[in-house]
Amino acid sequence: MITMKFGGTSLGDTRRLADVVTIVKTHISTKPAIVASAMSGITDTLLETARLSVQRETEKVKNNFEAMKEKHFNVADTLIKDSARREELIDRQSAIFDELASLLRGVSLLKELSPRSLDAIASFGEILSCLQIAAILNDSGIPAEFIDTRKVIRTDARFGEAVVDFSVTDTRIREILLPLIDRSIVPVITGFIGSTETGLTTTLGRSGSDYTGSIVGAATGSAEIWIWTDVDGVMTADPRYVKGARVLSAISYREAAEMSYFGAKVIHPKTMLPAIEHDIPIRIKNTFNPTHPGTLISSSAPETKQIVKNVTSIDHLSLVAIEGNGMLGVPGVSARIFTTLARIKVNVMMISQASSEHNVCIVIPQKDSENAVDALQSEFKTDISAKNIDAVKLQTEVSIIAIVGERMKGTRGIAGKTFSALAQAGVNVVAIAQGSSELNISLVVEQEDAPKAVQAIHDAFQEL
Ligand code: ASP
Ligand code: MG
Repeated sequence: MITMKFGGTSLGDTRRLADVVTIVKTHISTKPAIVASAMSGITDTLLETARLSVQRETEKVKNNFEAMKEKHFNVADTLIKDSARREELIDRQSAIFDELASLLRGVSLLKELSPRSLDAIASFGEILSCLQIAAILNDSGIPAEFIDTRKVIRTDARFGEAVVDFSVTDTRIREILLPLIDRSIVPVITGFIGSTETGLTTTLGRSGSDYTGSIVGAATGSAEIWIWTDVDGVMTADPRYVKGARVLSAISYREAAEMSYFGAKVIHPKTMLPAIEHDIPIRIKNTFNPTHPGTLISSSAPETKQIVKNVTSIDHLSLVAIEGNGMLGVPGVSARIFTTLARIKVNVMMISQASSEHNVCIVIPQKDSENAVDALQSEFKTDISAKNIDAVKLQTEVSIIAIVGERMKGTRGIAGKTFSALAQAGVNVVAIAQGSSELNISLVVEQEDAPKAVQAIHDAFQEL
């Protein structure tokens, strides 16, 4: 069997939903289980409406509410031919909208919106969406059953970002879904939501439907997990900025995790964990171009000639350098830097220290630079007045360029090729880091050089 997760953009309107039916029909022999998000924009609207309710913005609440209703009822009207089935769906959805209305009223009366209420309200998007997908499939002659994951996915009570209890969840998934699959019924499973032991609704964090897809795929032992989205797959670079960027046919879990860290729109690393644990490949597929094979993400770095898989930039960062001749051989300088930054909750994105120990530099988000410099200056005040440390220097508007590829490990010449490409493009490299995993090389350039740098590296590795 295959677990197929459809994201909001794949469910955004009646045309897209009709395409989903075609996709499921085409792949019916794989015995699909479907995990679906809310229709695009609905989760945002639900959360916004909840906030507007607390503020008693009655008119805006009403407009949002009616717009959501209209969007869903239009789907039923347009896509469901059988009138009894259409009415049944509209009745069920009306009941859900009534329930939503009373929740919103409650929030407004109490003037209080807890994370718990937010989760309860956010969950409506997936419920409405999956009810309609199941009805549409049935109407097209594909036996399907709506599955509310509040009865399946057990979580703790960390509302907004609940943690899954796999011992309960996996058993329930198998008990509930496998008999349906055996009878050739397509389960249509709500992504994103779960519930606590006492039955309170929780969510798995924004974009959590991918995670549900991975959980379901893993527990059912699916052959693959397909994430249906709006791009052909994972690309070698951002096609908006890089000429010649193309889709990668296969990458490893590690490469995918690394790329998503560096901002490639791939898949959240947490999402992959259940799949990784059960060694189930994830395939990124495009609902707008369904015959494209997409990108396969699996445990083995596939044997392609390509060694560098991806080049990205993270833009608008700051580089903070702590320098001084007195730092040489003095233990504890790095520890103090990181403790200081941890205390003020600054995320360090890259670290580099030359072995002369004369200079430690770190890259952080630009918005944190002033805070970080102040905190470091006061931490090293004594060392600065003793001239062990010259200064805490700040360089704003820099960019980290990262190149990722599992097979870079042990391959000679990658760094050489990267730096000659940069030199030829006239790009000055400010700092460099490569972890011993050799999975990525990161380097810092001035912001204005970033597009040129990414393009030059991409061009250089084109023929690899
Ligand atoms: N509907 C939820 C969200 O928008 C979950 C998802 O789309 O994956 O965050
Ligand atoms: Mg979404």
